[in-house]
Amino acid sequence: MAIIARRKSVVVNIGGVKVGGSNPVVVQSMTNTDTADVTGTVNQVMALANAGSELVRVTVNTEEAAKAVPRIVDTLNLFGMKVPIIGDFHYNGHILLKKYPECAKALSKYRINPGNVNIGRKTDDNYRTMIECAMEYGKPVRIGVNWGSLDGTLLTRMMDENAKSATPLNAADVTKRAIVVSAIESAAMAESYGLPHDKIILSAKVSAVQDLIDVYRMLAAECDLPLHLGLTEAGMGAKGIVATTAALSILLQEGIGDTIRASLTPLPNGDRTEEVLVSQQILQSLGIRSFTPQVTACPGCGRTTSTFFQELADQIQTYLREQMPLWKEKYTGVEEMKVAVMGCIVNGPGESKHANIGISLPGTAEDPKAPVYVDGKLVTTLKGDGIVDDFTGMVNQYVERTYGAN
Ligand code: SF4
Repeated sequence: MAIIARRKSVVVNIGGVKVGGSNPVVVQSMTNTDTADVTGTVNQVMALANAGSELVRVTVNTEEAAKAVPRIVDTLNLFGMKVPIIGDFHYNGHILLKKYPECAKALSKYRINPGNVNIGRKTDDNYRTMIECAMEYGKPVRIGVNWGSLDGTLLTRMMDENAKSATPLNAADVTKRAIVVSAIESAAMAESYGLPHDKIILSAKVSAVQDLIDVYRMLAAECDLPLHLGLTEAGMGAKGIVATTAALSILLQEGIGDTIRASLTPLPNGDRTEEVLVSQQILQSLGIRSFTPQVTACPGCGRTTSTFFQELADQIQTYLREQMPLWKEKYTGVEEMKVAVMGCIVNGPGESKHANIGISLPGTAEDPKAPVYVDGKLVTTLKGDGIVDDFTGMVNQYVERTYGAN
């Protein structure tokens, strides 16, 4: 594991999952089902949790959604699924939490957006109501500022003050300051109502990488509350993954961030669990946490003219991921195993020797021959149609032999 000095923060317990302090950076995700659809939401929560999401957020936007929450949590419990469920509230959270105490009790945390909880009002009554519900039921909150819904009154006030300043900032910098101030002031307000300091997590999401880094650096310097990281509205496909990785990696490398989410837009009918795998991969690539054996694979080139090599790499990676839930129960440290799947002898033996177990594929799809290296030594050359099965069999033996005795 990489040695990264984490920013000091208090520890917040979210339904048994500890966030902050020296606890592992927690992976979280959010459903996109209609929360009122109990079956659909339970299925997606289970898929996300089984993929490795340690906290799952659901939107609670209507009375039907609020009524469904306790049924969702009860059903998950029936299936033995203990993942804490977080309620995401905007505009009407004060009404829903007050009117549906079973919902308030069933949730493990409330996400409150200070930018829209008191919208159009001159007082902080709505916000206060939500904080008082959290106090009544002993729940933590995440004060989640988002620059798409930043408190307009606060921004106007800060813009006015800036205009009168002898050294005014540009508008973008005032907006970033306003995001940070909104989070810090909202936390102080919650504590003034009586919410304990160790019941508060902060986030301040923006959608541009450099802005996110600026905002979180300010936030990290100005409080000791745990921080939830995420590049909001990151987008689709490669853009969303790369932008999220770029932003979160820089902050995590600086020790900033106690829980993360990759806010990816799935393709229609796309797999929602991709955001969990991306979050895990960011943490594992940085050497912060390990979740599953890592496959080192070359990109292939003119030496791998058939698709046989790509199929082999894909099958082995899929096999490792599928085995992980079982392996995690039986073996210690298997998630740190390195497997190399290489296209030819140019870099194949070298990479294979650096891995716990590695295979490279000189030969053609018609006549495949694949030397296998275990702990740096050539142990056999696999041939013929059964290379994938033979290799996964060797991986299984290696796992049993190396991690089974621990
Ligand atoms: Fe090409 Fe071989 Fe390098 Fe893979 S290891 S990219 S097949 S030269």
